[in-house]
Amino acid sequence: MAKVLLEHVTKQFPGATMAVDGVSLEIEDQEFLVLVGPSGCGKSTTLRLIAGLEACTSGVIRIGARDVTSVAPKDRDIAMVFQNYALYPHMSVYRNLSFGLTLRLNRKFGGGVIGRGLSKIFQPQRAGESVQLRAEIDNKVRQTALRLGIEHLLDRKPHQLSGGERQRVALGRAIVRNPAAFLFDEPLSNLDAKLRQQMRVELKRLHRDLDATMIYVTHDQVEAMTLGDRVAVMNDGRILQVGSPLEIYQQPANLFVAKFIGSVPINLCPGTVRRSSDRVRFDGRFQIEWRAESPGFKRLGGLFEAGQSELKVVMGFRAEDVRVSGEEGSFEVEVTEIDRLGESTMIHSRVCGHNVDGPEDDNLKKTGSTDETVLVRLDPDAKLVSGDRVNLMVDSGRVMWFEPVSGENLLKEQK
Ligand code: ATP
Repeated sequence: MAKVLLEHVTKQFPGATMAVDGVSLEIEDQEFLVLVGPSGCGKSTTLRLIAGLEACTSGVIRIGARDVTSVAPKDRDIAMVFQNYALYPHMSVYRNLSFGLTLRLNRKFGGGVIGRGLSKIFQPQRAGESVQLRAEIDNKVRQTALRLGIEHLLDRKPHQLSGGERQRVALGRAIVRNPAAFLFDEPLSNLDAKLRQQMRVELKRLHRDLDATMIYVTHDQVEAMTLGDRVAVMNDGRILQVGSPLEIYQQPANLFVAKFIGSVPINLCPGTVRRSSDRVRFDGRFQIEWRAESPGFKRLGGLFEAGQSELKVVMGFRAEDVRVSGEEGSFEVEVTEIDRLGESTMIHSRVCGHNVDGPEDDNLKKTGSTDETVLVRLDPDAKLVSGDRVNLMVDSGRVMWFEPVSGENLLKEQK
């Protein structure tokens, strides 16, 4: 397996906007990296550039020690698995799995029954080697089929398989090649939710067993979070952040990442932070005050420049970082909807007597931070009903602060 390196890679399609705009990315040997982002952000094009199916407009791509920027796809030593499986419809599962390897062998030794017969007569040693390699291919195909649980399907054609079985064959075809890196383009999108989850677990196991370098494209942030050692979030052809799933969830680089990552939307509230010597106060749809001894005061204090006492911000917090509590610093909401999810209860609420004090520009509208709902994740047996009024307390150590125009996370630790 090998490391994959992208250096300032761009791709501009004729007459179109920049699909990939100066992407630099290092995927470690044996790493599972997921490229995630909304439709049209350039993730598939990035993968196709690595595979060599598209040519870079500029930049360099390395696989292992080799510069492969101008190398043909078949010589890049990568295997790609697509959403639509791309199996040969007229071939059996066995032949779909063995085809690539047999083709390579035939190129080397000459193929066909006649070729093999002549070879036996005139080049017995070479013929012996060829027979041995064919046996190795057969062994590899059967081992791979066994690993993926499709050994009983080897004689079937693709149209006689379910979607999940076809995807396993596509995966098997990549595995038998033992490539330097695996590239996956939304490979599970056509499967139902349960099968998708099962295949994710299998992919993780395969990644471990094969010690493989894997690059995986998806628009599904849950898939990205569950599969990736690291996740790269893309938008508009650029990579906005690369980090472990927890890092991008807890320390998003900006509002876009904060909003894109997380199965429940982050709570965002524009407002103003004001500082005095012994406290800081947030004024937005609700007000929160932190005294000098609280962690919130220390974290927020770092945002101010010398002599500055007021700052426009967007406050962000996750639904699980809020609790029902009447203690000092809480704010009152009215419960509007309740989702009983089994493992937790999701409360939709509206701040009582709200008072918006914050910049209302297009940037905020675009990121959804003008939505007035506050989402709160509570225990499964939370005894609340629509119309209840309760006080909420936000965990001050978990609150995120964003610059309202650029969207940058003001507290993200610099690396
Ligand atoms: P999706 O999740 O919908 O597949 P994506 O993030 O993978 O989206 P890409 O397929 O990489 O996005 O496309 C990025 C941009 O490049 C889009 O604006 C798309 O319209 C454009 N694009 C992709 N392929 C071509 C092409 N062959 N010619 C012109 N423009 C293209």
